[in-house]
Amino acid sequence: MSTPKILILGAGYGGLLTTLQLQKKLNYNEAEVTLVNKHDYHYITTWLHEPAAGTASADHARVYLDQIIDTNKIRFIKGTVQSIQPEERKVTLENGDVLMYDYLVIGLGSEPETFGIQGLKEHAFSIRSINAVRQIREHIEYMFAKYKMEPERTDYLTFVVGGAGFTGIEFCGELADRIPELCREFDVNPELVKIYNIEAAPTALPGFDPDLVNYAMEVLTRKGVEFKINTPIKQCTPEGVVLATGEEIKSATVVWTGGVRGNSIVEKSGFEVMRGRVKVDEYLRAPGYDNVFIVGDCALIFNDQGRPYPPTAQIAVQEGENCGANLVKIVRGEAVLEPFVPNLQGTLASLGKGEGMGMVGTKKIYGTSAALMKKASDLRYLYKIGGVGLALKKVRL
Ligand code: FAD
Ligand code: NAD
Repeated sequence: MSTPKILILGAGYGGLLTTLQLQKKLNYNEAEVTLVNKHDYHYITTWLHEPAAGTASADHARVYLDQIIDTNKIRFIKGTVQSIQPEERKVTLENGDVLMYDYLVIGLGSEPETFGIQGLKEHAFSIRSINAVRQIREHIEYMFAKYKMEPERTDYLTFVVGGAGFTGIEFCGELADRIPELCREFDVNPELVKIYNIEAAPTALPGFDPDLVNYAMEVLTRKGVEFKINTPIKQCTPEGVVLATGEEIKSATVVWTGGVRGNSIVEKSGFEVMRGRVKVDEYLRAPGYDNVFIVGDCALIFNDQGRPYPPTAQIAVQEGENCGANLVKIVRGEAVLEPFVPNLQGTLASLGKGEGMGMVGTKKIYGTSAALMKKASDLRYLYKIGGVGLALKKVRL
């Protein structure tokens, strides 16, 4: 029998953890494992709100794959996936290369969900990659510089964050921390700067614990963020946003954090999706394809009450580990696979430097303790993918 070919698409949390399981558990020549990723680095998506606001460098949020991948065991291809042809067991890259597989793992992450809101794609930024956050940071700084040349344009100093989910809240915390520094650098009166966090639902962080939501809103309000709750954004224009109430906010910077959907390549490749995510079976396989596994934000799984789990790094990591372990079993001809059962540890969110809140098990945590717990969880992740060296290099206390 020939050596099985395993192809992994995407080196995010799901794809990388699948790869690292195979790297650790398979012997040389047991399988041909190939990892394809757009960049030669993995980025720590859970930190991207920091470089977006400019409170950390974008470089800090990336880890070069050659530091964590053993290229004697894993073939790495820097390339962009264009399409998947599951019937023919092949994947086509943007440069025209075609990759054949016996087993495929799709971990291509997510895209912003715009719900068809007019103008968002064209005029709003999204926190989604290293390139995207570098652009947001540069844009924010440029708006301060422009304001100095056109002081009547207060829209240059007005920042709209659309959506008060976790991404919106975390970004507002960082942006509010950055503003005083920018005001000093560009000689701008801080009172002229406005940050609006606009949320469609009747509360920020819908579905999350109300005490923690109140705490987060209090902290951010104190830092200067103005919330507009129960106020959907209806349209985004080159001048700003129009709200469902009819109010228009003039802003030269709109950052859309209104939600995500699975990578559109999955839907375009013919898989049946809900908001871009494939409802996978208990072994994370796509319906109808026993050899196609889907991990991370492209996979849709449900809890006992039939509600979808939100797409998180926490689940993507666990899915990657499960998928990698099951692929080892398949390669070795073991008949029984391990079903995927998420083991949720809690949710922690940062609210700017040294501030956070969250739930660990059933315990609510606030302030510095929450911020430290979040660092500890970052440390665990970095240790998992790159050992002590990477953890010490990247985590700043
Ligand atoms: P990703 O991590 O997004 O990785 C996808 C990979 O695929 C990337 O490397 C990308 O370059 C690559 N790729 C994409 N398209 C192509 C293509 N066409 N060809 C080749 N490669 C491609 N979750 C938590 O659990 N805790 C948190 O604290 C948390 N904080 C967050 C903070 C922010 C600011 C954001 C935006 C999200 C946060 N999340 C958090 C959610 C979490 O980041 C995602 O759920 C997680 O990244 C999903 O992992 P993934 O492997 O599916 O995709
Ligand atoms: P989300 O879907 O969790 O939140 C989006 C928010 O935007 C929602 O509150 C929604 O009501 C709001 N919204 C939608 N349409 C709107 C409109 N027209 N006008 C105004 N508001 C609108 O999306 P997210 O915050 O990007 O998070 C994506 C995933 O990543 C989630 O699963 C989240 O849990 C996870 N995440 C986790 C953390 C953490 O654990 N610290 C941090 C960031 C993201």
